Formats: sequence, structure tokens, C-alpha cells
Amino acid sequence: MDLEPLHTRLTQSIGGHDWWRADGPLEVITGAMLTQQTTWGSVEVAIRNLKERELMNLEGLASAPLKVLEECVRPTGFYRVKATRLQTMARHILHRHGSLSEFLSTEGTRLRQSLLSMSGVGLETADSILLYAVGLPFLVVDTYTRRIMERLGMALPRDYEEARRRLEEALPRGVESYREFHALMVELGKQYCRPRPRCAPCPLLDLCPHGMKVVRGNG
Ligand code: SF4
Repeated sequence: MDLEPLHTRLTQSIGGHDWWRADGPLEVITGAMLTQQTTWGSVEVAIRNLKERELMNLEGLASAPLKVLEECVRPTGFYRVKATRLQTMARHILHRHGSLSEFLSTEGTRLRQSLLSMSGVGLETADSILLYAVGLPFLVVDTYTRRIMERLGMALPRDYEEARRRLEEALPRGVESYREFHALMVELGKQYCRPRPRCAPCPLLDLCPHGMKVVRGNG
């Protein structure tokens, strides 16, 4: 898989955006858990609600009445499940690791296993946390990335781990490289490669078999 032409084109046209803005690792973890099946805007509202109630810390999340957490995260949908998962996450970190800094300094593979043992943390969420909160080189394979790669004629394996390995092997190894690639996928997916794509102005049009079909009216 040669990602060089795609990467160069995207870097020149839309650039690597710093799209995951957060105040520290706990906010990244919280955001990664709340962002499932909702927009980033509603996650920002929920995080603001948690901060206003001074709950954006492990002790607060672990001990707050569930009703209060539910109110805070309500804008993100599925708020009962998400509030419970946030509380479970905070208790898990405190009981098993003692503190956030101990948790974050756990060796990478063990940290990933610890994350995956939490309710509501799947592979994509775990890797988002590892890449953005902890700064470990685990590429995030999300819906944007799968959709774009498929349309470009480079469909990824269905198996998450295989898909991740294939992309990681095709990119320069490292946190900055993986963050930049993921940011480019998110940006392209938001601006152009939506479920109903805007192919005519897309910077990858001439590299994209699906896009060429769309603009010719056969897509
Ligand atoms: S040309 Fe169309 S289908 Fe191809 S990447 Fe761009 S938006 Fe997606």
C-alpha cells in the first residue's frame, strides 16, 4: 500500500489540523468515551458541563452521583450508559493503578489491555486514548479512514488489528506521523468524503476511482 501520493496531496491541500483540542489526558479519555455515536460539538458541551461542576478529575468522576454525571453528558446521547462508563473508567483507574499518572506510565501493551478491559472501550477508543492522551504510536482506524481508503481502491481488512497494522506499516512509524495521518483522514472525511461525497472539489479526485465515477455521473 503506497500512501505517499495521498499523504503529500492532503498535507499540501488541507494540512494536518490539530483537531483534538483537550486540556490534558483525562479530557482526551473522557472525549474518546463520549464521542461514540455523536458529534464532537456535543462532546465539548458535556466536557464543559463536567468542568463547571468540577468533575473533570478522577476522584470527581468516581464519586459523583450517577444522576449528576447523566445530566452533564446528556447532550451526547445514550447518557445513562455513558455516565456509567465514565464512572467505571475513573474507578478502574483509581483502584487498579492508584492515579492517572501511574495509569499513563504503564507499559504500552499492558495499558492497552487495561483500557480494553473497561466497559465501553473498544479497539478504536483504546487507540485514540493511547495516541492522543498517552502519546504512544497506535494508529486509530476509524470510520472516516475506512470509508476513504475503500473509495480510493485500498479497502482495509475488516479485522481492526490487521487494518491498523497495514496502515502503520505504510506510514513512517511514530506518534506525530500517526496523529497527522488520522487528522488528515478526519478533515477529509468531514469536508469532502462524507457518506454522500463532495468529489468535484476534493483534493484527491484524480487519485480516486470512486470519485472519478461520481463526477462522471456513474457513482
Ligand atoms: S474524490 Fe470523492 S470519494 Fe474520493 S476521496 Fe474525495 S470525496 Fe472521497
